[in-house]
Amino acid sequence: PSLRKDGFTSIPNVTWSQVGALCDVREQLNMSIIGPIKHPEIYQSAGLNRPAGCLIWGPPGCGKTLVAQALANEAQASFILINGPELLNKYVGESERAVRELFNRARSSTPCILFFDEMDSIVPKRDNASTESGTRVVNALLTELDGAQGRAGVYVIGTTNRPDMIDPAMLRPGRLSVRLFVDLPTADERTDILRAVYRTNHPGAGPEELAQLDAIALDSRCDGFSGADLDGLHIKAAENTLKRWFKGETGGQLKPEIGEADWEHALATTRRS
Ligand code: ATP
Repeated sequence: PSLRKDGFTSIPNVTWSQVGALCDVREQLNMSIIGPIKHPEIYQSAGLNRPAGCLIWGPPGCGKTLVAQALANEAQASFILINGPELLNKYVGESERAVRELFNRARSSTPCILFFDEMDSIVPKRDNASTESGTRVVNALLTELDGAQGRAGVYVIGTTNRPDMIDPAMLRPGRLSVRLFVDLPTADERTDILRAVYRTNHPGAGPEELAQLDAIALDSRCDGFSGADLDGLHIKAAENTLKRWFKGETGGQLKPEIGEADWEHALATTRRS
């Protein structure tokens, strides 16, 4: 639903209505990031002066990026997305400088959320096999997180599928100390997510149209689906609708509308990732 260009600074256009379930995560992020952006004086008088850093972890496709984008939108904060492996590949030997530049860019457009996707690739546990350049990148990031240059208004969020692979130094208080787990959705949460996916793609959908989706999301063939899988399910159903429309099989409808047969086709052909 939004721009995913690497390293690009913008305020995302993702809103909370496009995010299903994830209520706990939203609440925590509200407290840790939106609160200080909107009411800095209250946080300061409570003695919380340094911006929080968060690590969101869990299986792929469960909305970690989406939730961070909605958060930035609500706070009207800039958002910079950095893909971990790309940072290392694109700037071979210069990743350390790239890290410093990212924080400089973030500082020049506060409030700003610096979002590191696949954080484990940038800050893996250091061991004997660590390369010198790898260690330098970790150190550069730790220096920035500790705010030697000042980190006011710069909020760091990292994501990972493997929190056990992250250098524990990153997780100390004041660094990425707020840890949020985003799991695969339960059946009930799937209904909320499929509705959100549908609302994103069919703005103006009415309550009855949305209510019809619940039986699909609760279908046992969706067990183990992530949010991304539900998004894929909707795409399959919509593609099938179009196919039928072009073949003139939608009974003279002026506009193609997803029907029961399309959802059935999608359910029969989508596998959980
Ligand atoms: P990865 O670990 O692979 O980066 P992620 O957890 O960051 O995955 P997202 O990129 O946020 O996952 O989700 C991928 C897509 O799946 C979203 O763009 C959205 O279409 C859909 N999606 C995932 N979770 C949700 C959700 N909770 N509500 C609505 N849509 C969702």
